[in-house]
Formats: sequence, structure tokens, C-alpha cells
Amino acid sequence: MLIQTNFKGPKGPLVHRCQHCKATAEHLPRCSACKAVRYCNDEHQRAHRGKHKSACNQIKKARAKLSAEEERFRNDKPTFDVVNNYSAHSVSDFWGMLSTRYYMRARYDLVVGYLLPVATLDSSSEALEHMVDMIKQSREESLDIPGMIPATMLRLGLDQECHDFIKSCCKGSSDPHAPSASVTHSDVFEPPEDHLKLAVDVINVIKARKALAGTPLPSEIRGKIEMEVVRSPLSAHLYRESSEYLSRRATTCVEQIRHLGIHVMELNKHFNHLLFTPDLALSTPPSSSYSLGSWGEAAATLQNSYAAWWEAEGVLELLADARVYALRDTEPQLEEMRESERISRARGIHDGPISTDDEMLAHMSVIRVWTYMDWAVEDSWYLGPVSERPSGRQPRFQLQDSEPEPLKPVQGEEGCYPRFNMAEIQAVLGDERLSDEDRRRIYGAMMNSHPPGTN
Ligand SMILES: [Zn+2]
Ligand SMILES: [Zn+2]
Repeated sequence: MLIQTNFKGPKGPLVHRCQHCKATAEHLPRCSACKAVRYCNDEHQRAHRGKHKSACNQIKKARAKLSAEEERFRNDKPTFDVVNNYSAHSVSDFWGMLSTRYYMRARYDLVVGYLLPVATLDSSSEALEHMVDMIKQSREESLDIPGMIPATMLRLGLDQECHDFIKSCCKGSSDPHAPSASVTHSDVFEPPEDHLKLAVDVINVIKARKALAGTPLPSEIRGKIEMEVVRSPLSAHLYRESSEYLSRRATTCVEQIRHLGIHVMELNKHFNHLLFTPDLALSTPPSSSYSLGSWGEAAATLQNSYAAWWEAEGVLELLADARVYALRDTEPQLEEMRESERISRARGIHDGPISTDDEMLAHMSVIRVWTYMDWAVEDSWYLGPVSERPSGRQPRFQLQDSEPEPLKPVQGEEGCYPRFNMAEIQAVLGDERLSDEDRRRIYGAMMNSHPPGTN
């Protein structure tokens, strides 16, 4: 199996690129054996053969295996052509045949083992077609496939499709052709990526408009420049909108990002951290056996999506800016947080290694990062010197004195403990903009139990 090594490739959406010299062009000849990579010419293909040979052969083999399995199960029940005549009532028939399982397995291997890791425009497009088909054929046998689809769509610039896909996952449609409602991993995806990409586009248009204001350029030229600064197809209309619309749009984007960011944390406390320090997770061999909320789940999610994060210019930078505010506001509260940590420890809910002040600060600022996205966004379209950015604001957080209930090991489920310690919960609940309803929901989710060892 190939290990993906190009999580941090060139910024921007996938384009055809020579594997040898990295030159890009709309039309480049393709490797005829694997149809997954491209080169400027024969010379560059030969020069790259040593590096590409093994992947090339493996893709070819995986495709041959898939054709053989497809042939096999067609012959299994010659009267029932399930691939071409798939319909709602045939789902159980489809899975009644053992050979379909081998067929699905071969398809899964081709996509996840070989096509996605190569990560070119060709291989990702082909992988996406397979994946969309696979979840139509079987929800049960392609459980982690829906989690890989949104990031692949974003990499291919299919932002609208990504949006629609996630929505249909969340809605839980009864249509058997729609993705399954029980797709937990897509929940983790829904958040930041998609919305952050749009926020960055809005920022860029506002910035361009500000920079161009007062210049003698005719308005159609200014409009053209504004069109050039957006990345997502969903943002193509922004240049026509009023400045009021743009700032309203920025505000709603950021609000959505904040809510979704908190939701991600409720589902998996590791994911935010991995976004800032991804290297270990990205170099860990891919695995599909992990429990919900575990580090393994966060790592797998990151492996599925990091390239999309990386390629969306400005997105990780915005997160890093927000974290600067989170750090600044968290520092004065360090002592109180330590106290909460001590309480958690005394009650036996928290038994990890004692962290240094720096580690604690780093940890808490990551937990709070989504809260500061609005400031990061406002700063990012400020055109003056960095020292004069509108960042001299009041701290946003108050530590909450009283908790709804004391933290304790969860009753009735032996050996189960809350997922977060007191300090971590306080770090989130202190956001001044949360309603009481939000607080109750977040508190409940963060108190959710997990069996020990799944941390
Ligand atoms: Zn080349
Ligand atoms: Zn090849």
C-alpha cells in the first residue's frame, strides 16, 4: 500500500502537473500504464520512472483485480446485472452475493490504497467517481468512504458539490442513493474547511476593494481584479456584491465557523491540536480501526483532509492568527486553570502527565481558537501596519465560577470518565457570546463518557 506523502504540496486547487519538473499546463500527456500521472514529455517520464514505477504497477494491478472481481460477480448471477441496473430494492440482493464483497473490497483497495495517495488531478477525479458510486451501492461496506469524499471534492474545486454532499449526509435522506445518515466522520468534516475557504474569499474581496478604492481604475477593471482574488467557485459572484453584503457575509461565515469548530471539539478533542501539529498524525500508517473520539480517529480524519486544508490558501494562516489572540487571553488565566486541573486530578478524572505552563497555554489556546476567528478575520483585511491592527480589544473570556454539576466518573458505566477535564471545559464555556442553552449543550457533550484507553 502506498503512503501518501504529498499532504503539503503546492497551494491552490489540483491542476495537471508534470511529476518530474512540476511544471503545470492544461494539456500534458498522461502515463498510459496507470493513467494517473502526467509528464511534459517522454524525457521527463523516463527521468521519473524510478520513483513512479512501483506506484504505476500497483495501480495497474489494482485495476486489473477490480475488473476480474467485477467479471466474477456478474457471472455469479448472470440474470442480475447489479452494476448497471442498480435500484433501490436491489440493495439486499446486491449484498446477498459473496462475490460483491470481493468486488467492493477490490474497489476500496484501488481507491484508498492507490488512487488517493497518488493525489494528482487524474487520480483524485477517478477516486471520487468510485467513492460516490460505492456509497450508492452499499452503506455498510464503505463506512469510512463518506469521510474521504468532502476533502477530495474541495481539492478538485467542487465546493458546491462538497457543500451539497455534506448537507445530504447530515439530513439523513431516506433515498438509498443518498449517503447514509449514520456517517459520523462527515460530521467532523463539515466544519471548518468548507466555511473557512469561503471566509478567506470574502476577506480577499474586501481587501482588494479597500486597496483599489481611490485608484483611478475603471470599475470593470476593479471588478475583474476582485474576481481574480477568490478561489472557490462559490465565491464567483462576490465582486458584484455591495460592501455591506460582504461584511455581513464575513460575519455569518465566522459565526458558522465558530459553532462548527466547537462541535468538532465535542466530537473529538484531538482534532484541533492535530491541525496545528499535523506531522505525527500524517506520518502514522493509515488505519480504519479506531474508536469514536480517539486520537486515531482524529489522525485518520486529518490524513483524509489535510491536503485540502493545506491547498486552500490563507486558511491555516487565519487559524494561526486566531490562535495568537487565544494565547494572549489565556495567559492571565493560567493559574486558575491550573487549579481546575488540580481538582480534576484529585477527583481522579484526569491522570495524564502534569504539563508545563507553556504546554498548558498551548493546549488551552488550541481549545479556544475558534472563538477568535472573527478578530483574525477583521485583522486580515486591515491594510495598515501590523502594529496598528484593530487588535487592542478586551479579553473575551471569563472563567466560569460555577459548574452545572461537579465532574465525577460517570455513574452506572464502570470505568467511564468524562472526556474533558474541568479546566478544558471552563476554557470553552467562558466564551462571553455563548447562550445558556449553548453552555448546557456543550457541557453535556464534553461530559460525555468514554471507556478508558480510548483517549
Ligand atoms: Zn516536466
Ligand atoms: Zn504510471
